[in-house]
Amino acid sequence: VETIRTVEAMRRRSRAARGEGLLVGLVPTMGYLHEGHLSLVRRARSECGFTVTSIFVNPTQFGPGEDLERYPRDLDRDAALLEEAGIDVIFCPDDAEMYPGGLSRHRTWVEVEGLSGVLCGAARTGHFRGVATVVTKLLNIVEPDAAYFGQKDAQQAILIRRMAGDLDMASRIVVCPTVREADGLAMSSRNAYLSEDERRAAPVIHRALERARREAGNPGVRPGELVDAVREVLAGEPSFAPEYVELVAVPDLDRLEGDRPLRERGLREALLAVAGRLGETRLIDNLMIELER
Ligand code: AMP
Repeated sequence: VETIRTVEAMRRRSRAARGEGLLVGLVPTMGYLHEGHLSLVRRARSECGFTVTSIFVNPTQFGPGEDLERYPRDLDRDAALLEEAGIDVIFCPDDAEMYPGGLSRHRTWVEVEGLSGVLCGAARTGHFRGVATVVTKLLNIVEPDAAYFGQKDAQQAILIRRMAGDLDMASRIVVCPTVREADGLAMSSRNAYLSEDERRAAPVIHRALERARREAGNPGVRPGELVDAVREVLAGEPSFAPEYVELVAVPDLDRLEGDRPLRERGLREALLAVAGRLGETRLIDNLMIELER
């Protein structure tokens, strides 16, 4: 598999592929790949003749005190997995290539107003600004016909889709389902941080969301009842410290509250999202609730 480290070479390669009449697909990642990432790769391969996976642990989406330095990295293993998956190019620039002159000299940021300060953005100030900015840069470098993201990071997917629309970006944004371990835990590179006990406790998040999924079938259910159902199951695992449990409207991410039943609000979809900590490790998961009008 071809590895490209510079912006210029990546753009040239991508344009050459496009010139051969191939559709270009991009799967942006931070590496330490797992089946969730590979499901995006397979989707991209099924739709595009030329596929690129970027591997870049983007420093501007980490806050002070977050896990940037210890974020797991293993480029050799990732390259072997991507080769096997049939990716054409791995784009793995270093920080200096993406932020020439250093992070403190970067001046242009993409802010998706209203969507970036809620849910995960409330605790992770600047996180989504970093995400929106690096994804914009990657889309400008690779110029893909389609870019693939995971439902696992639901807020990120919603925000990127909004950004691409608002800024008339040419790439189609494709969101793929969350891939889970056999016990329901959403796959994540950060799962590698979990101790054995924490790993055993982690599926509580999925169990809590599944309980809410069942309750969401009840036509008169109110938003607060779904949030309470999740909280109740989470409380059964005292080692998990919730950061938030929220039900929000899609795609505006306005919090849904009050006594009016969820199904009487004229929404097509609602997002039930959970974040919290097992020990030092921050985990997130979510459930998209389809609501027929
Ligand atoms: P990351 O390397 O964590 O930045 O993730 C790169 C892409 O893979 C993002 O679009 C994620 O949403 C997606 N992704 C991560 N974990 C999963 C998963 N378990 N299932 C599906 N997609 C995932």
